[in-house]
Amino acid sequence: AKEHGRNCYQFYTAAMHEHAQARRQLEGALHKALSNQEFSIFYQPIISVDGQHIGSEALLRWHNKELGSVPPDKFIPICEELGLIITIGEWVLYQACSQAKAWCDRIQQSFFVTVNVSSIQFQRADMAQVIGRVLQETGLASHCLTIEITETVLADNSQNILHQLKTLRAMGVELAIDDFGTGYSSLSYLKRFPLSKLKIDRAFIRDLPDDLEDRALVKAIISMAGNLNLTVVAEGVETQPQLDFLRTLQCDYSQGYLHSKPIPALEFEDWLTEHVV
Ligand code: C2E
Ligand code: CA
Ligand code: CA
Ligand code: CA
Repeated sequence: AKEHGRNCYQFYTAAMHEHAQARRQLEGALHKALSNQEFSIFYQPIISVDGQHIGSEALLRWHNKELGSVPPDKFIPICEELGLIITIGEWVLYQACSQAKAWCDRIQQSFFVTVNVSSIQFQRADMAQVIGRVLQETGLASHCLTIEITETVLADNSQNILHQLKTLRAMGVELAIDDFGTGYSSLSYLKRFPLSKLKIDRAFIRDLPDDLEDRALVKAIISMAGNLNLTVVAEGVETQPQLDFLRTLQCDYSQGYLHSKPIPALEFEDWLTEHVV
């Protein structure tokens, strides 16, 4: 038994060692990823239910020679821990805004781009100014930019966050609460922060239109959002029946594989050509 226990111990330390090594490799690669130009941005369409208005979410992608393509759910938390998300996030913002500027000029109607901003980025006191400067440098109109934040940003109880969000809204930038419904106290946030859009997490959309609980929840969220003057986006819409159901509830926008997966900028241009005049 003792022998066995020892083997177990050795097994675990070996596994832990390997884990730590893999992690160090990721960290090392991430430190150099931006200057090595390993990042790119994919865009996923967000479409109003009447098909009249179109936007796109900017989603970061990382491809490294040794590691291959690493999914954002895996590398972004590490970038946040290492503080790298501050520089990388600013790069995403700049790229997405200059890209959107070109698309806005082309489409003429109200095209918008949404950019995910981490709570770590909002810890710096001048985040609103950083965003303002990017808008100025790229020439993108402020109402064409939506900043997506999660509850983690709002859970930070500092006056600074509230002040920055108010500054952004005063500049004309839209604010969306992302992954709505997955956190703890979302309802109080809706009252306290100057939000303009609400994105229903795809966990609530997946089993529509059949699941009775999800039907009731999504219906309640959309009706509440309407009363609070929030524009609603349903995430993770994959099927026509899901979209049809969301239409009957007068959900404002939908996003998901039904329309398109996130795609590179050039492909997104083709998509625009096909779907917009
Ligand atoms: P998110 O902000 O909730 O982004 C939506 C995610 O859902 C994306 O995953 C997208 O590819 C995926 N998705 C879209 N439609 C569907 C669908 O119909 N079905 C399914 N199953 N999935 C769908 P992705 O690109 O892997 O990004 C994962 C997360 O990484 C994002 O979740 C966001 O939290 C984070 N992320 C991505 N880019 C950035 C960034 O530039 N900055 C920050 N801070 N976070 C980012
Ligand atoms: Ca998002
Ligand atoms: Ca989301
Ligand atoms: Ca998410």
